[in-house]
Amino acid sequence: MPFCKRKCPYCDFKSIESARPPEDRFAFCLSKELEKLTGEEGLHKALLRTIYLGGGTPSILSPETVAKIIGSIKSFLRPAEGLEVTLEANPDTVGLQKLAAFRKAGATRLSIGFQALDDRHLVLLGRPHTAEAALDAFRLAREAGFDNVGVDLMFAIPGQTLADWEATLKRVSVLRPEHISLYGLTIEEGTPFHGRYGKGREGLPSEETEARMYVMAREVLTGAGYSHYEVSNFSLPGYQSAHNSRYWKGGDYLGIGPSAHSYLSRPGWGRRWWNIAGPYEYMERVEKRESPKEAGEALTREEAMAEAMMLGLRMVEEGVNGALFAERFGLAPGEAFSGWDELASEGLVTKRGQDFKLTEKGLLFLNEILLRLSPKAS
Ligand code: SF4
Repeated sequence: MPFCKRKCPYCDFKSIESARPPEDRFAFCLSKELEKLTGEEGLHKALLRTIYLGGGTPSILSPETVAKIIGSIKSFLRPAEGLEVTLEANPDTVGLQKLAAFRKAGATRLSIGFQALDDRHLVLLGRPHTAEAALDAFRLAREAGFDNVGVDLMFAIPGQTLADWEATLKRVSVLRPEHISLYGLTIEEGTPFHGRYGKGREGLPSEETEARMYVMAREVLTGAGYSHYEVSNFSLPGYQSAHNSRYWKGGDYLGIGPSAHSYLSRPGWGRRWWNIAGPYEYMERVEKRESPKEAGEALTREEAMAEAMMLGLRMVEEGVNGALFAERFGLAPGEAFSGWDELASEGLVTKRGQDFKLTEKGLLFLNEILLRLSPKAS
């Protein structure tokens, strides 16, 4: 859902500012795209386990539009029992009535973009809401009946100290959201933040402070009863994001809408494709019954193995399951990649049989670890 009330200066998503998004037209196009896609892929009435309305800011849509979108997705697929339907929401776009209507429209899970709980940081990030508004949105979500609420937080914000970050983490953990996602601020080319902070990270917390913030988050949140189940994600027991867990476990997903990515594990070693980014070009193409796909690729066996390895290591508690890996690729992870022994001796990964996991130290070096794992000839 590519529309936002205002563009945040650090954001490089392909979202655009729009006070009044063309809701009906957009919902119609999503429905048309999905109808065509499920037909072409032989997925009509395929089992639907999760829906994720992400953005952008899906919560600027009216509940009627959200109901229409969820309804049409359910009509082309076969909803599983306990279907998880997540809606991303920004605090300045929701009130009690609207939240209750989103629930009625079928949303079972809310993901609220807090980003920070300090007004200085929110102003700096160009967010259109205050900390008070974020806390209010959370309270109202509960009042509206949402018993599965996630919050997103950002760290390594310019001027943010370790003490600021600790205070934010503690305030959030006291609220007891079922899920917490953390993102280190990255300075992306082409954004206003790149002009401001792109040269030499001036004004940003040092890389060492950023690493300490990450370690602190793990300590505070696990100490408060959250499980650190994925590199950037924490949940209360039983509240892992079913949707994102499917990405991390290599499950199939269809993405509809501008910039949406899809992945199907068949044929061969799987393939993925993605849509064009422009919302209006997207709608024009769908209306003309043209494909909104921008490009796609078929994965080679080596690429699929590297991806399974990367995604597996991201699952902090489960790690790479050697038996499942071998079942899929005919080779155990230790046979497919070399470098494990050195990584284990440096305390970056643990190895139990053919199962591999990141250690606490390894969490800070995931990219380096992936670079050091070399595919063996097979
Ligand atoms: S609300 Fe989210 S998607 Fe929209 S501009 Fe801000 S960060 Fe980007």
